[in-house]
Amino acid sequence: MNMNPEINGKTELCGVIGDPIGHSVSPALHDAAFRALGLDYAYVPFHVRRSDLPAALQGMRALNIRGLNVTIPHKVAIIPLLDEIDPPARQIGAVNVVLNGSGRLIGYNTDAQGFLHVLSEHGIEPQGKNIVVLGAGGAARAICFALASQGASLTILNRTVTTAQACAEDISQTFRLPLKVLDLNRKNLAYALHQASLLVNATSVGMLPAAGVSPVDRDLLGTHLTVMDIVYNPYKSKLLREAAQAGAKTINGLEMLVWQGALAFEIWTGHQPPIDVMRKAAAAALKRHCAANGQIAAAATAASQ
Ligand code: NAP
Repeated sequence: MNMNPEINGKTELCGVIGDPIGHSVSPALHDAAFRALGLDYAYVPFHVRRSDLPAALQGMRALNIRGLNVTIPHKVAIIPLLDEIDPPARQIGAVNVVLNGSGRLIGYNTDAQGFLHVLSEHGIEPQGKNIVVLGAGGAARAICFALASQGASLTILNRTVTTAQACAEDISQTFRLPLKVLDLNRKNLAYALHQASLLVNATSVGMLPAAGVSPVDRDLLGTHLTVMDIVYNPYKSKLLREAAQAGAKTINGLEMLVWQGALAFEIWTGHQPPIDVMRKAAAAALKRHCAANGQIAAAATAASQ
């Protein structure tokens, strides 16, 4: 259970809205952080369908909910419903955190900064590096803007190339940097990865329940690469397992999930997030989720990290 046993009339409420929402590890991550700091906050997952988003935000105001995480499919649709958008979130075109400041709803994007925190923890400096990003959806856009802001040389590959072109055009309006867009296929991957030092999978390929696939053939991976998969469910995707076998360094998506959550925690509470507590709680929640879905091997891996 993620209920705060001391909920009372002054308890601040936060939560996450999405559809589906049953898989979310955010309640465990935030609940653990509130408890670790002794904060009188509680966190609830809300299953909000696309058509109910405006009503959900009215509810946020009416119930004086302090903060929300926003996940699939609401990250873009929420923008016109908010009172103010933090400039980086406006540039990216996606909001994953909402703060209720006395009835005024302010949107932020912590996916981008969370991603950069992970790179920094791994000693990766994007400036001037050839970096390949797979995907052009909400998460990929945040990652591409984050990398562009750090002066990386970007190649974006996506199944729907027009979406990647739109992302590249938006980035070019703000940042002047080398930027290529390619169809996501083996030939283009071989070309792009040959020159790259970092590969980021920001597609949903490899995510449970379709965990048996990878967006990149194993023979295209090698020791010259660091491979980050933002898919965190399963804990070690097929891409990460094959990258490790090929001698590449690997970074798991749970690290970004924890950092984007930690930055949201700071926005809502004004307190420094207890990162290690959040990391352990997220891994344990993922273990429970994997076990509940029969993913015993993935669960064991997650628990041992
Ligand atoms: P999204 O906006 O729906 O974008 C999905 C992306 O995946 C698009 O680029 C899409 O390509 C691509 N894609 C989907 N199925 C594909 C397939 N069969 N073959 C090739 N490409 C395919 O979703 P999102 O919000 O960006 O999330 C993407 C993934 O990142 C999800 O697994 C999500 O759980 C994860 N995520 C992780 C974190 C974290 O903190 N670790 C944060 C956010 C998201 P098209 O444009 O061609 O459809």
